[in-house]
Amino acid sequence: MVTDESGEAGPAVVSASASSTTTAAPPNLREVGRRRVLEALYGAARTSRPELVRLTGLSRATVSALVGDMVRVGLVREEEIPAGPEEHRLGRPAQFLSLVPSAAYAVGLDIGHQHVRVVLCDLSGEPIWNAAVAKDVDHAPEETLDLATALVNQAIRDERVPRERILGIGVGIACPVDTKTGALGDEGIMAGWSGLRLGPELERRTGLVARIANDANAGALAERLYGAARHTQDLVYIRLSAGIGAGLVVGGRLLLGARGLTGEIGHLPAANGSLVCRCGNRGCLETVASPVAIARLLEASWGRPVAPAELIGLLHAGDRGALRAVEDAAEAIGRALAMVVTLVNPELIVVGGDLAAAGDWLIEPLAAAVRRHALPSGAEHIAVVVGELGDRAEVRGAASIVLAEAPRSLADMAGFADVADMGDVAKMVGAVE
Ligand SMILES: [Zn+2]
Repeated sequence: MVTDESGEAGPAVVSASASSTTTAAPPNLREVGRRRVLEALYGAARTSRPELVRLTGLSRATVSALVGDMVRVGLVREEEIPAGPEEHRLGRPAQFLSLVPSAAYAVGLDIGHQHVRVVLCDLSGEPIWNAAVAKDVDHAPEETLDLATALVNQAIRDERVPRERILGIGVGIACPVDTKTGALGDEGIMAGWSGLRLGPELERRTGLVARIANDANAGALAERLYGAARHTQDLVYIRLSAGIGAGLVVGGRLLLGARGLTGEIGHLPAANGSLVCRCGNRGCLETVASPVAIARLLEASWGRPVAPAELIGLLHAGDRGALRAVEDAAEAIGRALAMVVTLVNPELIVVGGDLAAAGDWLIEPLAAAVRRHALPSGAEHIAVVVGELGDRAEVRGAASIVLAEAPRSLADMAGFADVADMGDVAKMVGAVE
């Protein structure tokens, strides 16, 4: 299992409804111990009983009892550690402990301008089912949510996963998500979704606990946990698609701001006297550097419509106009990123979204612009790379938000109900040892 502070989903997302967080009874001693053990297990690929004792501060007897329960319900597996000279002397083989990936699952859902993507991940975050459907979702929230629900049901059927083993559904959406109200912001690229509270809608349809995040934030989490940024705590993930957004991870934590608007880099001023942006300002980065804006530039010179999806093909064909347009967009994006670099001092910029497929044609001028415009000592050590997860970053990041809550969800999971109170278990085990 992979997790760290950035995976602490509490502030990263909006839970579906206030009621889902206020009805839980205070956890008893056994639940608290169980959660501590699960957190330690979740934070390490493999561990051992002595290591769990050290990490949780619980007694050996308590750890043994709790781990025994978890093995019994199929949540934890044991493997023998190949014996070294030390173990031979003690005569008792040591055991590795790890969570069983198939013990629980999370659904990820990515809703973009023109696509719906669903993934079913196991407890380790590995996708076991994936589907993407091209759809014009802008003015069709109802239809889109019905489609998403159908895909979720298909994943559950295809993989024969018991519904009670699914911890929840995480959503990444191309809209700002108000962290106070849970409502989608009206600066999103999808006009028909403004003000919608997606969490309760999805909970009603799927029966799963829902967590909602902005898609660039979800992408940042995924690249941090599973992709290009897994070795750093300080990164900027920029998503260059119909809209331009960024996720900022600083000291391992995703920044959200007072209302979840951190990282709306597409609305930094980039050009004077340019087009009016959908946010109401003028000359925003998005109006000059999104794939749509680049295609629009080419349309003007070619006198025919150019689809944003054609851009990458034109680059490969060596089209001079397309090369120039992408280079200019990269310069504008790099200038905006330079401001972010100067403000938050990341060590890595990960580029995702549709335009990332432009590769070096985009990355080289973009990196050069960052170096030219950022504080030199901040820009000196920065790397700019294309994301490793491609178009699955957002959907896997969305699922990771649910998985980050796994230690708590699993501690409450059914199957432990018949286990004796921890105090008694501890006494019993203590008496035998
Ligand atoms: Zn704007």
